[in-house]
Parts: sequence; C-alpha cells; structure tokens
Amino acid sequence: MDILIRNATLITQNAKREILKSADIFVSNGKIGKVGKNLKENAEEKIDAKGKIIFPGLVNAHTHIAMTLFRGYGEGMRLQDWLTKRIWPAEARLKPEHAYRGAMLGIAEMVRSGTTAFNEMYVAGMEKIAEAAETGGVRATLAFSMIDDVPGHETEKELREGIGFAGKLKSRSGRVKAGIACHAPYTCTGELIQKGKEAANRMSIPFHIHASETRKEVFDVLKKRGQRPVEYLDKLGVLDRRTVLAHAVYVTKREIGIAGKKGASVAHCPVSNLKLAGGGVCPIGEFARSGANAALGTDGAASNNSLNMLETMKMAALLQKNFYWDPLALSAQQALDFATINGAKALGINAGSIEEGKLADLVIADANAPNMNPRHSDMDNIVYAMNPSNITDVIIDGKFAMRNRKMSFDEKKVVEKACEAALDLVGE
Ligand SMILES: [Zn+2]
Repeated sequence: MDILIRNATLITQNAKREILKSADIFVSNGKIGKVGKNLKENAEEKIDAKGKIIFPGLVNAHTHIAMTLFRGYGEGMRLQDWLTKRIWPAEARLKPEHAYRGAMLGIAEMVRSGTTAFNEMYVAGMEKIAEAAETGGVRATLAFSMIDDVPGHETEKELREGIGFAGKLKSRSGRVKAGIACHAPYTCTGELIQKGKEAANRMSIPFHIHASETRKEVFDVLKKRGQRPVEYLDKLGVLDRRTVLAHAVYVTKREIGIAGKKGASVAHCPVSNLKLAGGGVCPIGEFARSGANAALGTDGAASNNSLNMLETMKMAALLQKNFYWDPLALSAQQALDFATINGAKALGINAGSIEEGKLADLVIADANAPNMNPRHSDMDNIVYAMNPSNITDVIIDGKFAMRNRKMSFDEKKVVEKACEAALDLVGE
C-alpha cells in the first residue's frame, strides 16, 4: 500500500538535521519514496498531517521484552534478593506462551511510545517472541542470550541453541532479524564469546553483550579474566561495528578509546541504571566523541519499568548534564540522534532518518497538545516534553502499526492475556 502524508513538520534527521515545514512524505513498498513539498504522487492512503510532527521511529538498542510480564513485581528489594527470590523463580516457570504474551504487551507499549525497532536478548520462548514481532508489526533483532560460565550450562549446548535460533530466523526475511548474544564477560567464557562472534560474522548479523553494568562485575572480570570488561572483549577480538555493548557504565578512558577506535555500538540504558542503583553513569557523550556509535535502550521492564524511549532520551540528556555539571554535556539533538540514526546503525538497518530510500519507519505526533507548545523548537519538545499520548500514528515498514491511536491488533485482548500470564508466572 502506498501512503501520501501531507502538510507535516518533518524532523528529518538527515545529514543537515533539516526540519521541513508543511512538507509531504510519499511511502511506497515499505520505503520512503519521496520527501518534499506539494507532492503529487498517487497513493491509496492519503493523510492530511497539518498540525502534526513526524520524526523517524525510535530504536530501542537493548531490551528483554518478555520481561514486560515482571513490571512492578518485587519492587523495593535489593538486587540479589530480587533476582533470587522473585525474578529467577518466576523465569523458571516461563514457557514460550508466556514469552509471547509478554512480548505482545511490550510491543503495544513500544509502538505507542514511538519505538519502531528493538534489539532483544533473552533465553526463553525466542521463537514465540519472533512470532509476536511479526504479529505486532514491529521491527526486531532477536538473539538467544548464551551463557556458560555459571553452573548448569555448557558451552557447546549454548552455542547450538544461540546459533541454531539465529540460523532459523536468518532464513526468513523482512522486519524480524537475527542476532547473536552472549550474556556478559563475567558469565561467559572467552571461548563462547569468540565462537558466538565468529558465528555472527559468518551470518553478517549483530553481536550483543552486556558489559560493565555494575562495579562488582568489573572487579569479577578483572579477577577472573585479568582485564577490565571492554579491554577483555577487545583482546578476544569481538569489538567492531557489528557489536553492541549494553550499559558500559564503569569504564576507563582507555576502554572508551578502544570502543571508539573499533567503532563498536554502546547501548546506554539510563533509567535501568538509575533504578538498579548502580551508582555510576555511562559516559555516553565521551563514547560518541571517541568514535563509538552511541545508542539508547530501556533494558527490560523489570528494571525500568517502562519501555518508553521518549523518557529514555530525556533521561540520557539530563544525566549527562548533571553528571558533568555542564548543561551542554549532551543536547536534545544528540539524544535524538542516538535514538534514531545511531540505533538503526547499531542494528544494521537502513532507517533512522526521513530521507528517500530509507525504510518507512515513521512516528506521527500531535503538535497541538498543550505540552508540545509553544513551538520554539519541536525537536527539543520531542526529547524534553513529549509523552506517548501525543503520538497518533506509527508506520513501520510502510504499514500502520498504529492508526489514529488504534493498534493494528486487539490491544485489549493483549493486555488481558499478558496479565493472566503474569499472574500464572508468579504462582497466583
Ligand atoms: Zn539487559
């Protein structure tokens, strides 16, 4: 279906970061066919977007979507207690059908808050998560999270599962793509990490790993592997343009330099870091200056508790300003870049800006809402003032994932089914 959207303000995120007023977008075959004024293209679907702002879909570069079922479960606990008494026992009961329902709930929330693609790593029900991404109309990179340096897991079995899942997804084409993931340098052997990365290279897909989220794990890695996490990953030869490091909070200047030189992506998850009280701040601005590809993520809803990338952009900008005692430390434009162009780059997808030839992943928002006015800067308003209720339409791959605030699937049923699954998991 072709779509012609007329008379909108476009936050293009093109190389010049142009903002076009009263402009049109022609969407054809899942791509942006044309951008300009008074387009005359023929389209089955025509939208008058006067009073609307359109920006590229946001990319959530690190999440665990099935964990949406654990939102608000076991609050007010210390990390170790929360994991051992709440999350792990519930996860042990998690079946593929639970993962599907959690993923659908997460997708509904993500689309409503302007996210059009996400980078997932998880352990259970991966094929059902893929099915949910297909049904929900969203773009996703999905990886089974391999782990072997903990009791009860073995390297070969993990590799079979992780690479096997990627192989299955890889044979399909379209929105839902494969990735390879290892949990973290303190929980995975060098052998697993290297073999995982080699498989990712063979398949030309992204490699995704947690790194330096907490101070404790940095010291664990130092003790176990003799180096700090990012140095260690570099020694293993896994840092390059197709590797996404999630968190990267406790890093040295040397590690920032290494990630920059290798052009690795960093998925900064500010809300999760604050909520788990890690105590540090990812120096995402320094990563960006060093040449790393700076992106943003929410992490799972169990530690956030939302999957709202609008909130994540704002939090990222505020944290850097406060951390460096410098209101210029990270601008709204940079935060938006991280969540759009850079996120798309991290996932290797041709999206993240409103330009001809790019994938048609677009968010349409109401510019007349009180919180979006006055309009001194629509771009700053998106990062600092917008909330999901301002978003009216979301187009992914040239199709409506949400139209006039109505999802493409039965949202009420998705919420009901997810709540049943959540209660089932916690044994109520
Ligand atoms: Zn995570």
